[in-house]
Amino acid sequence: YLGKEAQSLGMKAYIVGGIVRDIMLGRESLDLDVVVEGNAVDFLKSINQEGCHISLHERYKTGSLIFSDGMKVDVATARREFYEYPLAQPRVSSDSLKHDLYRRDFTINAMAVSITPDSWGTLIDYFGGRRDLNKKTLKVLHNLSFVEDPTRVIRGIRLEQRLNFHLEDNTLRLLHSCLKGGLLARLSGYRLRSELELTMQEKAPFPALKRMAELGVWDILFPGLRIGKTAVRTIRRLSAFLARISRDFPDFRGYEWLAFLAALAIESHETVQFAILDRLSLAPRERDIMVQSLDGLRAAEQDLGGRTLVKNSEIYGYLREISPVTALFWSAATERWRVRRRILSYLTRLYRTKSHLTGRDLIEMGYRGGPQIGEILSQLRDRCLNEELTTLEEEVAWIKN
Ligand code: ATP
Repeated sequence: YLGKEAQSLGMKAYIVGGIVRDIMLGRESLDLDVVVEGNAVDFLKSINQEGCHISLHERYKTGSLIFSDGMKVDVATARREFYEYPLAQPRVSSDSLKHDLYRRDFTINAMAVSITPDSWGTLIDYFGGRRDLNKKTLKVLHNLSFVEDPTRVIRGIRLEQRLNFHLEDNTLRLLHSCLKGGLLARLSGYRLRSELELTMQEKAPFPALKRMAELGVWDILFPGLRIGKTAVRTIRRLSAFLARISRDFPDFRGYEWLAFLAALAIESHETVQFAILDRLSLAPRERDIMVQSLDGLRAAEQDLGGRTLVKNSEIYGYLREISPVTALFWSAATERWRVRRRILSYLTRLYRTKSHLTGRDLIEMGYRGGPQIGEILSQLRDRCLNEELTTLEEEVAWIKN
């Protein structure tokens, strides 16, 4: 449909970047990026699909289509060196796609496939992306690539480990000189944080984090960071637990990556830990999660490993006060099995325990709304947690008594 629409406006449209790579590898891809030779904004404005929301950034000549099922298609105008010449008149020439692709990070991410009907399915591969895909190599498009954008160092490592590829020799050499030249160290906190966040959100972040250690990236980013056995073990456990838990516990609010960051820093001196928080310009909430995770571990082990917090309701009451991300981190960081078991039981089961009876039921039963109902519900929940009440009838009987 998009290709036809482009053609009717006299434009050409392509899918580009990660999606082409993933299709060729037979992998699932989340984003769909489309580039048009022509103005993407005009193109998007002409689209009239029911159930599809369009957002536009006129200034950047980009926009997105958001479908009702949540799928998102980003559409950009093929552009040459947009950032270098911000005042230049927009121009659309036959080589604009080539220039657009040339700005990209690795050859395997710099391919396009036409979706315009008259050339539908044609692969456009100016830089040997298909060859590198077959060779399983990651190769930059030119020697200044990492200098132009040092975040590509981290992108490269992430992709290398995700796809099980390897960085091509010259690319690896350029990567090392980028590190030696101190370019990565100069990245803004925000950009660095975004890349690390993406890396730690990978399905299996450990290989990329390990590779970053091997290549000396951590020494440059966070001088003094100590990654020993405990950090490694914690990171590994985090991945395993997350895979197990996330089906039941969808409520980490995108902060899971902070558990990995805490794991990375677990063996480092407090001054290094704080330096990391500052370097990444974390938001106050994120800092709180990190500080509580790292500082609170010993106390949590004491509290949850002993005989004072034994009942489910007590464990619930204790862990409910803290971020589930911190709880997740503690469960992976502790070597005490009882502590781990209690936290995991909270994360997989206890946290979502509710009584059958709701506040509305209580009002119907004649209680007045307000704090009293909250108190009754919380007592009910505690009894459900401790399995003293299991059925609706038992709850009603308990209330009546
Ligand atoms: P992922 O599966 O991680 O989303 P992706 O390749 O789709 O992988 P995006 O971050 O969505 O990654 O970027 C889309 C495309 O934009 C990439 O395939 C690449 O062509 C280009 N790109 C993204 N970031 C950069 C960058 N820093 N430098 C050059 N090109 C980039």
